[in-house]
Amino acid sequence: MREKRQKAKRITKMTMMSKAAVIGGGFAGAECAKQLSKRGISVDLFEMKPKRFSPAHKSENLCELVCSNSFKAIRTESASGLLKAEMKMLGSVAVECAEKTAVPAGGALAVDRELFSSLVTKIIGEDENINVIRREITEIPSGFDAVIIAAGPLVSDALAKSIIKLTGNSFLSFFDAAAPVIEADSIDMSKAFRQSRYDRGGSDDYINCPMNKEEYEAFYSELVNAEIAELHEFDKKHVYEGCMPIEVMAKRGADTIRFGPLKPVGLRDPYTGHRPWAVLQLRKENNSGTMYNLVGFQTNLKFSEQKRVFSMIPALREAQFVRYGVMHRNTFLDSPVILNGDFSMKTHPEIFFAGQITGVEGYMESAAAGIAAGINAAKRINGENTVIFPPETIIGALSRFISDKSVSDFQPMGASFGLLPPLSEKIRDKKERYSALAKRSLDVMERFISEQL
Ligand SMILES: Cc1cc2nc3c(=O)[nH]c(=O)nc-3n(C[C@H](O)[C@H](O)[C@H](O)COP(=O)(O)OP(=O)(O)OC[C@H]3O[C@@H](n4cnc5c(N)ncnc54)[C@H](O)[C@@H]3O)c2cc1C
Repeated sequence: MREKRQKAKRITKMTMMSKAAVIGGGFAGAECAKQLSKRGISVDLFEMKPKRFSPAHKSENLCELVCSNSFKAIRTESASGLLKAEMKMLGSVAVECAEKTAVPAGGALAVDRELFSSLVTKIIGEDENINVIRREITEIPSGFDAVIIAAGPLVSDALAKSIIKLTGNSFLSFFDAAAPVIEADSIDMSKAFRQSRYDRGGSDDYINCPMNKEEYEAFYSELVNAEIAELHEFDKKHVYEGCMPIEVMAKRGADTIRFGPLKPVGLRDPYTGHRPWAVLQLRKENNSGTMYNLVGFQTNLKFSEQKRVFSMIPALREAQFVRYGVMHRNTFLDSPVILNGDFSMKTHPEIFFAGQITGVEGYMESAAAGIAAGINAAKRINGENTVIFPPETIIGALSRFISDKSVSDFQPMGASFGLLPPLSEKIRDKKERYSALAKRSLDVMERFISEQL
């Protein structure tokens, strides 16, 4: 009887409140719902589990870890540690639950996955402004003051179709075949040169990393013998359609990649005056030129093997990898065309996207996108201006990356110092530089929270 009265009271209260729909109870959805609730918005959080599971989800709980149980480094002098510190300042439910369910993992924040997801589910379930509804959403719902789509990289097919209808046919990628990205600062420019093939285009467009015959042969032999990452069954079907990994192409013959991504034609090495034996080209990943991608090097090698083998290219001996190459199913929007930096749609300001579907990559990055989208959806509902987080913060840098139209061939991105604007003074020592970047970010975030949120 008492329970019935309480439920009726809750329903009466909810009818008077503004209402948001959050689709997907994963990392982004849980954070988003919590931020909306904190700002007095009533939330219907739709989660299709346990009625329907994606090929990777197994548990009924919200915020399920589909693979590793690690949220990466804790120290704020690392990009992933800094991201978590920023999220904590914003009241992240994922960081709070991770700290409470942590297992020993050296310098990383790893969790007992069952305890972690159960705790998130409990906190969200007990929130009186959040109504968790276990149902698959197949059409973008109407009748809400805002809708936030946080259905993840394995969004159900029916909803994916609805999103395509909403955004336009070509705006959803179903497969991620990405080449690695490295920090510009870590390229050894004494062993590389800037030049476009046949001097077409700007002279600054490409950085060329030459190899002589011996260097190429050593690289080639390690590449064809390197360890491959295991693929999920549902990924195997897609992998080689249209986008061949560099290691697979290499296995076709000793010179195949020298006539493909490593072709030296149209280039002259200024150090030798000759055409190199083979050349890896690096292309700017962002407008500011702080990151470069390895052109044509989409790969399915294990991350450790990518570092070991690609670092054999002389100019990349000390390369810092911002993102490793991946090949897996990953549904994400062409966000620079579709989204604003506040995670709302350019064409429908009351519809937001959050999480990995926006092109951020990783558990905590997805959760962070959920925080930003939740704050902004609440602002929009409350008639306030939305905000874009400052570029000096990792959350701000990711928000800007996913909405940056200058990014060529948009591919998902995780937390990285390479995304942040450089410091005003150059600090050569990497540890000191990262520490200064982290301090700047946390100071800026503190000011931003007190002035804008
Ligand atoms: C196979 C795989 C392995 C990964 N491994 C890692 C890793 O080890 N480390 C890491 O940092 N990142 C990893 N990622 C990337 C990413 O961080 C996670 O996918 C992360 O969970 C994304 O968070 P999200 O909130 O965007 O989506 P999710 O956490 O996937 O949440 C989306 C939720 O939406 C629900 N949903 C989907 N469609 C509908 C619908 N139509 N109606 C209602 N609910 C719906 C799903 O059931 C799910 O619960 C992996 C991704 C994949 C696909």
